Amino acid sequence: MARKKIIAGNWKMNMTPSQAVELVNTLKPLVVNDDVDVVFCVPAIDIIPAMEAAKGTNIHIGAENMYFEEKGAYTGEISPAMLVDAGVKYVIIGHSERREYFAETDETVNKKVLKAFEHGITPIVCCGETLTQREQGVTIDFVRQQIKIAFLNVSAEQAASAVIAYEPIWAIGTGKVATTEQAEEVCKAIRDCIAEIYDDGTAAAIRIQYGGSVSASNAAELFAQADIDGGLVGGASLKPDFGKIVNY
Ligand code: PEP
Repeated sequence: MARKKIIAGNWKMNMTPSQAVELVNTLKPLVVNDDVDVVFCVPAIDIIPAMEAAKGTNIHIGAENMYFEEKGAYTGEISPAMLVDAGVKYVIIGHSERREYFAETDETVNKKVLKAFEHGITPIVCCGETLTQREQGVTIDFVRQQIKIAFLNVSAEQAASAVIAYEPIWAIGTGKVATTEQAEEVCKAIRDCIAEIYDDGTAAAIRIQYGGSVSASNAAELFAQADIDGGLVGGASLKPDFGKIVNY
């Protein structure tokens, strides 16, 4: 069966709650496409108003992060149960900005991935190399290691329903998009890695996004690649251009 494309916006630390409502209202007529799962991953404080504004549309509201404990003395964190209660179905885990600025590691990513599945939330698991790693020729080794650790103790059934976002760090927010060949090479390597860990069926089911300066002008070519099942989109997800990306 063909994999359904999934195109997710990552709003990052942008949009106040009232701006979030305005943006959802602006984008909702533009992102209608039944062939694509459309997700807006928004700041935690925007989840409930965005969810309300998106009611009755094809837009899923997702989170940008969550903690791996159930509840308790973790000031400032958001629990999986809080997300579930708000109606969240998707959560970005291990974005490179969280790894860089908030000390997330492959181990915390794995804990969060396990916890998301425990609560029935689909993780969008981020991976990707730095420019130095690409120049050193270790991109695929590095990404394989990130994936192997992120999926430790994850069952094949869970993995089949997961989303992986391959995001070369040098392409995030820089306007420097990976070539389609570079993006497809790594997305295929990730699928092969999933086949090694699990089996061919799991590898054929899991959805792998490309992220890194996706725009209305490069989305169609990227999403046409055999192993690229959509995109994780930062900057362009805050603009009407996101409608063009969803309807690539
Ligand atoms: C991202 O934040 O995940 C991202 C890919 O950002 P941008 O599209 O702006 O490069």
